[in-house]
Amino acid sequence: MPIFYGKVALVEFLNSVKSTNSTIGFVPTMGALHQGHLSLMQQSLAENQHTVVSIFVNPTQFNNAEDLEKYPRTLEEDTKKITQLDPNIIIYAPTVDDIYEGKVTSQDFDFDGLENQMEGKFRPGHFNGVGTIVKRLFEIVSPDNAYFGEKDFQQLQIVKKMVSKNHLNVKIIGCNIFRETNGLAMSSRNERLSAEEREKASIIYQTLLEAKEKFKTQDCNEVKNWVNTIFESNDIFDLEYFEIADEETLIPCEKQSKDKNYRAFIAVFVNNIRLIDTISLK
Ligand code: AMP
Repeated sequence: MPIFYGKVALVEFLNSVKSTNSTIGFVPTMGALHQGHLSLMQQSLAENQHTVVSIFVNPTQFNNAEDLEKYPRTLEEDTKKITQLDPNIIIYAPTVDDIYEGKVTSQDFDFDGLENQMEGKFRPGHFNGVGTIVKRLFEIVSPDNAYFGEKDFQQLQIVKKMVSKNHLNVKIIGCNIFRETNGLAMSSRNERLSAEEREKASIIYQTLLEAKEKFKTQDCNEVKNWVNTIFESNDIFDLEYFEIADEETLIPCEKQSKDKNYRAFIAVFVNNIRLIDTISLK
């Protein structure tokens, strides 16, 4: 299994494997891989001759030092999982220095307002960090197709915007959310939950499903108020936000309009661990 810790050797290798009709699929991750990540890789494998997976805990997208420090780093297990899936997957696990070359800062991006909603509001600087790392990785890997999970739907829209504004020649493909059996969206952060918290965290997806049902007959604010009351009476989970927004612009919904596609977004804290989820309301 080809594994690279530096960009120079990776680029050299990719140049040698690329042939005229072959495509490169790319799956950027922060490691601590789970079935959700592997499903992105499977889609890339099905649609491209070569698949590159990056594993890099990107410091500039963390607005919380404790979250960055506690983020699970499990490179050895990750490489085993990738090899089991397909030993030909090319792994890029760079050092911070290989990416940032001594200057660990974000570029400033304008994502036409997408960055000001939800995650952008509650995690200042987060999307500048995401834009910086994704652009840098695209420059290094030069993929034809890149795969991102809908679990981070706002990130997916931001990456699409970055690609279109910078006229980058890469197709961004959104992939379905992979869930645990109780409905909890898979996340590397789930590893930090106790068994009880992990089981009870099914409330997040259950609430999204019920909100979707209510949205058929109620307006946005009624549904939002209902979700607030659900979490007010819960002593394990603290709601950071629940929002219903236009899928394209991510502008919060005030009043339902028939010609828009809406999506619900939620962020919840349990024991200082932050979990997010989302559902289409169509
Ligand atoms: P992360 O390692 O959390 O940065 O995630 C890397 C990629 O995997 C991102 O595009 C995520 O949206 C995606 N991803 C994370 N969790 C899931 C999941 N449960 N289902 C599908 N994709 C996911």
